[in-house]
Amino acid sequence: MEKQNMICVSCPLGCDLEVEIRGEEIEVKGYRCKRGETYARNEILDPRRMVTSNVRVSNGDCPLVSVKTIAPLPKGLMGELIEALKQIRLEPPVQIGQVIIRNFQNTGIDIVATRAVGLDSSDQKHEPEHELKKVSEG
Ligand code: SF4
Repeated sequence: MEKQNMICVSCPLGCDLEVEIRGEEIEVKGYRCKRGETYARNEILDPRRMVTSNVRVSNGDCPLVSVKTIAPLPKGLMGELIEALKQIRLEPPVQIGQVIIRNFQNTGIDIVATRAVGLDSSDQKHEPEHELKKVSEG
């Protein structure tokens, strides 16, 4: 028999859960509601996490864009996703909600941008100064 202790994160109460695993049988103790039992079973059988990270953007008004999975990803694929995101370099404009990776590893889970990145407008930033000079000269 294997025993595991974990904290249910499904609500702020954070119940201490004790899980006993006997072969195929999983017994959960310490939960105050059914969600705690479901949480513990999922943690044993199919642990998943939401993943948030960043992707590089070339020639954008920001060098990075934040991204996230649209649903919790199997924990075993998290490292692979982080590596895949490191290889990507986007070109602006990037829109909020834009799919960066579709159906990652056939999980049905997309990775989407959570902010927008526009074109680098650093050249245009000097225009107002130039205009100001023109006005003061006149
Ligand atoms: S078991 Fe229920 S009450 Fe306890 S932390 Fe989980 S969701 Fe909240």
